[in-house]
Amino acid sequence: MPDTPILEVSGLVAAYGAIRALHGIDLSLMPGEVVAVLGANGAGKTTLLRCLSGLLKPVDGRIVFDGDDIAGKPAEGLVARGISHVPQGRMVFPGLSVRENLIVGGWTRDRAATAQGIDRACTYFPRLAERMDQQAGTLSGGEQQMLAVARGLMSQPRLLMLDEPSMGVAPVIKAVIFDALADIARDEGVTMLIVEQDAELALDLADRGYVLETGSLAVQGPAEALLVDDALRRAYLGG
Ligand code: ATP
Repeated sequence: MPDTPILEVSGLVAAYGAIRALHGIDLSLMPGEVVAVLGANGAGKTTLLRCLSGLLKPVDGRIVFDGDDIAGKPAEGLVARGISHVPQGRMVFPGLSVRENLIVGGWTRDRAATAQGIDRACTYFPRLAERMDQQAGTLSGGEQQMLAVARGLMSQPRLLMLDEPSMGVAPVIKAVIFDALADIARDEGVTMLIVEQDAELALDLADRGYVLETGSLAVQGPAEALLVDDALRRAYLGG
């Protein structure tokens, strides 16, 4: 693994008006790493992803992606640079077909790359392959989540950020989604930052984890160590 981080965040501060949601976060990701971000409701996990993908302008701090400080840069440019954010709550376009949703996800790419991206989505999620012309709003919740992940991959990201990919999804579909993420990480070396309430599921996939507590980093470490730390599980992970 190369020794230069693909993403290095330092002193990240974010706020909504007068309310601070992040109080100075430091984290880094090496290329190809899968990293989980855990923590209770309101800890600031979504806020962190929104800063990294350019949806929220940080108050302070540096976000260095691939050597450049991108803090405060607009989201559209960051997608083209290789950052993709699969938001909480899926946000598929309900009136568009599965195929059209995927095409929208590939807006930064040319036609050939879009066609390849659709093939790739079908490989990782065969259930979507059977439903290409179905309206996304008529998919089950789990299928919509698969579509959200597949759409997030259409821009060929080097950093894929996922916000609660298991939320509201049946256990069998959770497994399909997390198996696909493991395949994508292994086969394509896509770096991933995964926000999850299901700590065990996330840490099973991840190399490392960070635990956020009310806007600050409480704990970080290798996934295996976090998984077996009883005090940590009781304090932060509902274990
Ligand atoms: P959850 O697990 O419930 O999604 P989270 O860890 O992702 O929580 P955030 O959504 O980042 O937490 O919220 C962090 C803090 O910022 C919370 O106190 C929340 O109330 C606040 N917050 C989030 N979005 C807004 C907003 N649009 N306006 C004002 N406050 C906000």
